[in-house]
Amino acid sequence: MKKFVPDLICESVFAVDLDKLKERQISGLLVDIDNTLVPWGEPQMEEAFVDWVKRALQEGFQICLVSNAKHDRAQSFADLLGIPAVGMALKPLGRAFRRGMALLGLAPNQVAVIGDQLFTDVFGGNRLGLYTILINPLSTNELDTTKLMRRIERSLLEKMVKRGMISRKHAQIRQGRESDD
Ligand SMILES: [Mg+2]
Repeated sequence: MKKFVPDLICESVFAVDLDKLKERQISGLLVDIDNTLVPWGEPQMEEAFVDWVKRALQEGFQICLVSNAKHDRAQSFADLLGIPAVGMALKPLGRAFRRGMALLGLAPNQVAVIGDQLFTDVFGGNRLGLYTILINPLSTNELDTTKLMRRIERSLLEKMVKRGMISRKHAQIRQGRESDD
């Protein structure tokens, strides 16, 4: 179960403390797209998320989008933001995170993954020893398979709390948002 435990749970990308990441010597971010920066399947990224990426870049972070979405979709956001992307990532199994790290020229201990899914983003990042940050999905509009995974995520998070692997407070950041679906 350890490989599914996120290092950090945050409400959204906006709640990620970039200074704390710097203190950990993290200078690269591999960021999920759907339901992390853009509501699932939406064509547009809201200005606030564009600004967040730009601010992180200004603060010296290198950023690569890593998405299971099609290449075109991933690339359109990469172009908008002026950063690289790896599409069709097949998270958690593919080599996408490795490719993302290679694109940024960084080692695993310098990189954090930010995403909304325990089984793709967090598990995929933990497998490689990356710092993993789980955020709440932006929308509950998702694939049916993802909805099913959400239920499993919830029970897994509950088990983590019982085993003292994450705090109740952290788990509630997540559960509060999902109690209605
Ligand atoms: Mg996602």
